[in-house]
Amino acid sequence: MERHQASSTTPKTLVAPITLDFPEGKIEAEIALPLGTERLVVLAFKMLEISSEVADMVTRAAAKLDRKVSCKKGCGACCCQLVPLSPPEAAMIFEFVESMPESRKNEVKNCFAIAIRHLKERGLLGKLERLQNPLISEEEYNTIAREYFQERIDCPFLVKKCCSIHDVRPSMCREYLVISPAENCKNPGGGGISRLPVSIRLSEALARTWASISRKHVQVIPLILALKWTTENEYARSTGDDSIRLLTSLLGHISDIVNKRECELAGRSKAGNKQK
Ligand code: SF4
Ligand code: SF4
Repeated sequence: MERHQASSTTPKTLVAPITLDFPEGKIEAEIALPLGTERLVVLAFKMLEISSEVADMVTRAAAKLDRKVSCKKGCGACCCQLVPLSPPEAAMIFEFVESMPESRKNEVKNCFAIAIRHLKERGLLGKLERLQNPLISEEEYNTIAREYFQERIDCPFLVKKCCSIHDVRPSMCREYLVISPAENCKNPGGGGISRLPVSIRLSEALARTWASISRKHVQVIPLILALKWTTENEYARSTGDDSIRLLTSLLGHISDIVNKRECELAGRSKAGNKQK
């Protein structure tokens, strides 16, 4: 992966051209950064477009093999699932809600508050908060995610079965590409959901970058707790570093995740060949 190069045209900003190599293809982009420090939450906003581009590449490549993505506008059965966020993404959602016009902001905040009250009454709030623990097992995670889904709490951003924050929806929503019938999404634990693998996993890369600069390890913040968690952890919004170091760190984590994924896939295909 190529990293960055300062532009001399503006004294306070630099434009970092980045080239990202994914198994799905290459992405070339430019990211404007301030000279000096940058907050990771701002970088999280800027990287969303790249998460979408990788997902689009995967979608196009799969379509050529007759594997069509079932997701389409107005099909939102998945939007009552637990959406896992990294800390910068939770802070990003918080800031986005804060930037909304007053009446819409109040509506959205009210939806979050109703959901939290419901979770508390059902004894699920503490369980969802446990997902922040980096030592939580996959099994426990899946059990909590299933219990959450059973409550059928629509995402506060779902309006008339459509995502009302399409441009800033979290990376997990962008990278969730289902090729099985949309009907199966009503039963995520039923084993009938097939997804296309997307290698970028932006949320994981952001979580690792955040952990490396804040020295706080947080596994997952469910989207439904994004406002609550960010309010209780105000430092998450200001966590940042020298802008170049921050971008370099994030790109490094993306690269590590992609390489690890390629090794896993190569290992699986080798194991498959041996069995033949
Ligand atoms: S994940 Fe399932 S329910 Fe959600 S948009 Fe895709 S096909 Fe529809
Ligand atoms: S952010 Fe949008 S796409 Fe993601 S769960 Fe909420 S409504 Fe659905």
